[in-house]
Amino acid sequence: MNLLVDNYAREHTYLRISVTDRCNLRCVYCMPAEGVPLKKREEILTLEEIYRVAKVFVGLGIDKIRITGGEPLVRKGLDGLIKRLGALAGVKTLAMTTNAVLLADQVRQLHQSGLTALNISLDSLQPKRFEAITLRDDHAKVMAGITAALSEKLETVKLNCVVIAGVNDDEVLDFVHFVKDKPLNVRFIEYMPFKDNNWQSTGVVSYAQMRGVIEQQFTLEPLNARPGDVAKDFSLVGHQGTVSFISSMTDSFCGTCNRLRLTSEGSIKSCLFYGAEVSLRDAMRAGGSDADLRDLIQIAVKGKPEAHPPIEELAASDNRSMVEIGG
Ligand code: SAM
Ligand code: SF4
Repeated sequence: MNLLVDNYAREHTYLRISVTDRCNLRCVYCMPAEGVPLKKREEILTLEEIYRVAKVFVGLGIDKIRITGGEPLVRKGLDGLIKRLGALAGVKTLAMTTNAVLLADQVRQLHQSGLTALNISLDSLQPKRFEAITLRDDHAKVMAGITAALSEKLETVKLNCVVIAGVNDDEVLDFVHFVKDKPLNVRFIEYMPFKDNNWQSTGVVSYAQMRGVIEQQFTLEPLNARPGDVAKDFSLVGHQGTVSFISSMTDSFCGTCNRLRLTSEGSIKSCLFYGAEVSLRDAMRAGGSDADLRDLIQIAVKGKPEAHPPIEELAASDNRSMVEIGG
């Protein structure tokens, strides 16, 4: 039974856990070039604490967990955590979002430990442009990570591509061609505003625009959506790979949102764009029981807003940066 039902009858089955606020890239749309002030080690949940919280969430009805960050692969001991989370009865999907810089050497072990799905972030197929976006010269490592992930035959491998006008919007068709003969789903994501990420409304390339560009060359066939899906998914005639659009800016999906987030310092965020956070870390370190954690989780769920504010308000709000929240 799902016990994570909010005031708008939304059932929450999906928990995104940020395991670190650190990252080995500096994507300009995610954080300032100098990085964000890092939390002290003791402010971040230990792996044991993450496992304990995840177990409580699973007991309340979570069946899908995504490990994210920061960059999750920079967290020491991650594989052991994956093993323990994968062994939790009730977890059907154990996914990770990664920039793949460190993936090639780790993906086999992670798969063996129970990881079922990967989302790999890649915003450009061009090495020089990749460097201009991420401020690091790691394109070849990411491509090797993608190749290794594909040979591992996980349940799903997806590419996350944030499309920004004048930065990489001329590569939309290149990405579609890239997945032609690969079992890859490329997800084109609308550029969202976060603190200090230089967001401007002129940088947003809308779902409608991206779709229009692709439809000049390809026929898109809608795939069946599952409840809580945030992506609009399509297959393409003659293509093995598929494409999706995440239209957070122009056509938000708050009405069916089934997600909760746990930040690296152990706070629950019920909405990516909603400031209020409830700290499970403080409760645990004050000796709180699992029942206390369950109560706090319910407070966060019941406080979830019906929808996020309009774009103009989001851009002006003081929400944390994506790398801090956990994407
Ligand atoms: N470091 C990992 C990675 O890049 O895959 C995981 C964390 S990252 C914050 C999670 C996702 O958030 C990435 O796919 C990234 O592209 C996306 N993201 C970050 N900033 C964004 C923004 N301003 N708009 C849209 N997506 C963004
Ligand atoms: Fe790091 Fe991911 Fe943010 Fe890029 S998007 S800076 S890889 S956390």
